Amino acid sequence: MTARHLLLVGGGHSHVEVMRRLGQRPLPGIRVTLLSRDRFTPYSGMLPGYIAGHYRYRDVHIDLQALAARAGIEFIPASATGLDRMARTLITASGAAYPYDAVSLDIGSTPDPGQTGADRHAVAAKPIDGFDARWRALLERVCADPRPRRIAVVGGGAGGVELVLAMQHRLTAELQARGADPSVLRFALYTRGASVLPTHNPRVRRRFQRLLARRHIGLHCGEAVTAVDAHGLTTADGRHHDAEEVIWVTRARGADWLTTTGLALDAQGFIRVGDTLQSVTDAGVFAAGDIASMDNQPRAKAGVIAVRQGPPLAHNLRRFLRDQPLRPYHPQRRWLALVTTGDRHAVASRGAFSIGGRLVWHFKDWIDRRFMRRYRGARDATSSV
Ligand SMILES: Cc1cc2nc3c(=O)[nH]c(=O)nc-3n(C[C@H](O)[C@H](O)[C@H](O)COP(=O)(O)OP(=O)(O)OC[C@H]3O[C@@H](n4cnc5c(N)ncnc54)[C@H](O)[C@@H]3O)c2cc1C
Repeated sequence: MTARHLLLVGGGHSHVEVMRRLGQRPLPGIRVTLLSRDRFTPYSGMLPGYIAGHYRYRDVHIDLQALAARAGIEFIPASATGLDRMARTLITASGAAYPYDAVSLDIGSTPDPGQTGADRHAVAAKPIDGFDARWRALLERVCADPRPRRIAVVGGGAGGVELVLAMQHRLTAELQARGADPSVLRFALYTRGASVLPTHNPRVRRRFQRLLARRHIGLHCGEAVTAVDAHGLTTADGRHHDAEEVIWVTRARGADWLTTTGLALDAQGFIRVGDTLQSVTDAGVFAAGDIASMDNQPRAKAGVIAVRQGPPLAHNLRRFLRDQPLRPYHPQRRWLALVTTGDRHAVASRGAFSIGGRLVWHFKDWIDRRFMRRYRGARDATSSV
């Protein structure tokens, strides 16, 4: 009898846990493949710390090839571009076709520039490799020639707030180390919302608004960005704001190619799934992380949600391939968010509760490093990446 085939697409936060569990307890008679665009996948919780200079590239990335090898899973570096559900085959950018018995998608979200021109003139925070290259180039430019420059970040959620604080922290430290005046750099944060961090309680929002003011970061609330060009951006009131770099950390959608699969998608193009994390259209297609939109239990797009979906996804994939009934998953309504402030401080926020300081950052650092250790082998820890 030929082995049945489980195809994992995308090495996001849910799939790394699925792989780890499959490594601990292999599925007899099932062949497993991970197909992912990138070999090194970033852990979202540590990205701002990497930009701020607290972590190295290898501290915040999981080596998917090594993780797969340890779990006895074949790793294929490729981008999925299509799904032929009748033939139960996944298609890649090179035209290769991979048959499956069950497929699971954890491919994250895609920046949505709309008609603003941000796709040509701004850089999106994700995928991280594109952002990282542009960030390193900016770092080099600023250090080589510390003249006045304006840097704009668009998006008032945790990603945008953490990123502008992290970039300022790092560039300030680099200029001070060279004896240059960091006040030549001007930062601004733009959000269409009435305040930053709209999903957090008012105390947290006020705390960050005060912090941004103290750090002289211009805050433009209620100012939707309607256009981005080579010299900056334009807001809905028609004003042009000069900026040498525009970083896009707002609005995300599902990958375009999903529209050709016939899978039911929500208004933003994310795959609609039921409580078992199966597509509402096709029981053989699972989805988790940002790309999944739970019909009955909508949740924010956050790495912490993707991480939590890992265990129930692993469980249900196992049961599906054994023809056993699946178990519904009920995600938490509230979770502890730890939002960093660029320096080694962070704010903990959950419901109406919040507390901030250096200790919170150390707590977050401990949680994040413990998370990364779970997906590392002894050799990864010493690799030179
Ligand atoms: C700057 C920033 C900071 C953030 N900080 C936090 C935070 O502190 N806490 C938090 O909870 N959330 C945070 N987020 C949000 C978080 O990054 C996302 O919610 C999280 O990454 C989603 O995880 P995922 O598993 O869905 O996908 P991802 O982590 O995006 O992984 C997707 C994977 O799929 C692969 N892939 C993509 N497309 C394809 C394809 N077509 N074919 C094959 N492989 C593909 C990619 O290479 C990658 O390995 C932050 C986001 C940003 C931008």
